[in-house]
Amino acid sequence: MSVLVINSGSSSIKYQLVDPESGAAIASGLVERIGESSGHIEHTYGEVTKELNDPVPDHGVGLERVLDLFEEVGPSLTDGSIAAVGHRVVQGGKYFDGPALIDDSVEDRIDKLSPLGPLHNPAHLAGIRVARKLLPSVPHVAVFDTAFFQQLPDEAATYALDREVAEKYEIRRYGAHGTSHHYVSGQASKLLGRDDLKQIVLHLGNGASASAVVNGRAVETSMGLTPLEGLVMGGRTGDIDPAVVFHLARNSDLSIDEIDNLFNRQSGLKGLTGQNDMREVWNLADAGDANAREALDVYEHRLVKYIGAYAATMGGLDAITFTAGAGENDSRLRAEVAERLAYFGVEINDEKNSVRSKEARDISTPNSAVRILVIPTNEELAIARQSMTLV
Ligand code: ADP
Repeated sequence: MSVLVINSGSSSIKYQLVDPESGAAIASGLVERIGESSGHIEHTYGEVTKELNDPVPDHGVGLERVLDLFEEVGPSLTDGSIAAVGHRVVQGGKYFDGPALIDDSVEDRIDKLSPLGPLHNPAHLAGIRVARKLLPSVPHVAVFDTAFFQQLPDEAATYALDREVAEKYEIRRYGAHGTSHHYVSGQASKLLGRDDLKQIVLHLGNGASASAVVNGRAVETSMGLTPLEGLVMGGRTGDIDPAVVFHLARNSDLSIDEIDNLFNRQSGLKGLTGQNDMREVWNLADAGDANAREALDVYEHRLVKYIGAYAATMGGLDAITFTAGAGENDSRLRAEVAERLAYFGVEINDEKNSVRSKEARDISTPNSAVRILVIPTNEELAIARQSMTLV
């Protein structure tokens, strides 16, 4: 049995057919530029990749074409082989501390949570609605990015904001990327053969977040009410004095939506260098661009600041794990961060650090006071496995 995992964005649908037992990705693909004048669909099964380049007016048409591609290129989904459809949902608010079987009331709840996840929930909902319509005989499961962080201690989840306002508007630290932090921290325990760990997970993709996990329980995370808070990201500011918003609202001609867009899409590495991809930032820095080198320093400084804070709040530190696009692939970034952590007795093995691999691995020296790990995240597999627990 397999699980179809769907991550529906505002103008895209990414999907993967996963074998939850072996962890294999049986088929995968994506629909891009939904609603634009030129659309793109790509479906891969085994050695075969098929692409379509016609406009995709909406999510419904996109998913219909994907289901056609499953029949044309394979594997067929009509033989009853899929046990569930697992949907990634970013914002579950205070209502979901684990996966949920989707019925109309869960759909309604995801809809009502849209003000807390305005960039994501409406897009997830569009995908959920068409998928339920097109695959009505299969159970659909929502897996929330926020669920792992529902267990944060109150002292970590609570903002020092007027209580009444916070309660009325459901303002607290919800975190995000929780499916990845949960999966990767579990893999780290497995790799080290220990459950009693004080660990930090650094999910460094285009979006980036850190979490502190003690004995399997999340005790801190850097993303907040929304994924905007915390680390420097591809296009997001991460931490910034909220008064910058008031200042811009009063003194610039930017509207509140334009400030939102500036903070969420035009800032971070993109704002500092013009590029949001870490590889491009390194290329610029290597070519002598001082702004790019400074952006890398700002990025690393923020990371190290969080690591220090988390070590202090956990009262110790056994392991730091790098994951996601830059975390898994960027050996120079890992080396520079490790160097900045010399105070903690961190020491990495340069040879191990430079190896490219899809395997979970320990790149620290035997003498290192903290294990430094690189563990590929696999949110699709985690969503597939969580979905299976409900069906
Ligand atoms: P997301 O899922 O958040 O879109 P990913 O986890 O796929 O992102 O990570 C994408 C990012 O990873 C890219 O923007 C790029 O900055 C970074 N990345 C990928 N490969 C490398 C690499 N070899 N070196 C440095 N950064 C990389």
